[in-house]
This record gives sequence, structure tokens and C-alpha cells, in this order.
Amino acid sequence: MMTRRHALQKTALAASALSVAPLPAQLQAQGAAAAPAGPFRLPPLAYAFDALEPHIDARTMEIHHDRHHQAYVTNLNKAVAGQAAWESKGVEAIVRQIDEVPEGIRTAVRNNGGGHYNHSLFWQMMKKNGGGQPKGDLAQAVDKAFGSFDKFKEEFSGAAMKVFGSGWVWLIVEQKQLKVVSTPNQDTPLMKGHQPLLGIDVWEHAYYLKYQNKRVDYVTAFFNVVNWDFVADRYEKFKG
Ligand code: MN
Repeated sequence: MMTRRHALQKTALAASALSVAPLPAQLQAQGAAAAPAGPFRLPPLAYAFDALEPHIDARTMEIHHDRHHQAYVTNLNKAVAGQAAWESKGVEAIVRQIDEVPEGIRTAVRNNGGGHYNHSLFWQMMKKNGGGQPKGDLAQAVDKAFGSFDKFKEEFSGAAMKVFGSGWVWLIVEQKQLKVVSTPNQDTPLMKGHQPLLGIDVWEHAYYLKYQNKRVDYVTAFFNVVNWDFVADRYEKFKG
């Protein structure tokens, strides 16, 4: 039986031999092998798909990274194609200046640029044998802002449960203050100039294979894989 990737390669070869139109976006988004040209690239995961087991399963990680994140990258490349001023910017600069993106491509850039930026951070916010609690300056800042680490967890988890539909919950630093905020769809705190320190993807694609409708179990499990060193580094960089 042919794998999907082989099938795609075969389709792509057949398409180029016949000089027909490129593959539809839906097919291009299925894997890196079919990624079109463009300035943006899917960053590789720094760990294996199964590194976050049993908290986040390997199959979810594979589909989430190789297909969902790839689709945001592919569609961001398509959105900025021919827009020299935007093709040459990094994704962080693009999401910061989302209101200046030409209206005709703004929604596509908002969704796919936000998706690329959010997921690029999200992979780094987790690690194998993560979890535990923050240390040092960040721990003190969490205590100051929320009362205790447990209170922070409660607020962050509560916000994650309250997201209706698709979105994210974040720990951000805004004017030297730590806050928990949520964003709909693939919006990111950086669109309002706020630096995300930690974020959880609560789109169903992030957890449905393993947890189905039990988002609360996914949110609880997420705390076992948080990369607090990464979060603390961001805090030091952006605390102001
Ligand atoms: Mn996602």
C-alpha cells in the first residue's frame, strides 16, 4: 500500500510532467515534501514526536507539527507572495504590524502568520521531562502577580477551559506585569505588542486524538511538559 507521502510525490511528479497547475493548497499542506517556494519555513521540532508521551501523544505531535503548522507556513507564503515589503520581514515583525498589512491579504496573514508564530513558540514551550515549577525571578514574579504558583495554574487552566471555539491562553508580560490572557483563532498577544512567555494551544487539533472532549485532562497534562527554562529566559528578556 502506498503511503500518503509517496502518493503525493507521485501526484506532484505527474503534475509537473504534464505542466498542469500546482497542487491545491489542501494537498500542499499535507507534508513538507510538497511545500511551495516562499520565505517562510517550518522549523524542525527540537525533540522526537514521542518525547512528550504520555502527556501529549506522538501521533498528535506529528500531525500538529507536520500538517497543521506546515499548513500555516504554506498559506503564509502564499498570502505574501508578490508583496515584496512583507515577504522580506520575519514572522515576528509581521504579526507586530498586522494592522499595516494590505487589507486584501490581512486576514490570511493574520491567521497564518499568527499560526506560524504561535506554533513556533509553542514547540519550544514544552520539553521532555518538563513540568515542575518556575525558579528564580520568574517564580517571584508569578507569586507577586497571582499569589502563588498554584493560583497561577488555576487562573491559566480556568482561562483555557473558558475559550469557546478555537484559540490560545497565554502568560504574558505587559508593562512589567504578568497576566493571563486568551486570544481567539491564531491571534497572538504580540499583535497588541505583548510578549507571550507561555502559551497553550486549545484548538481541538492539539488534543482531540488522545483526550477527545476532555480538554481539562489535556490542560492538566500540559503542565507536565512545560519548559520553564524557556519561559524564564523569555521573562528575563522581556520583563523590562
Ligand atoms: Mn495548533
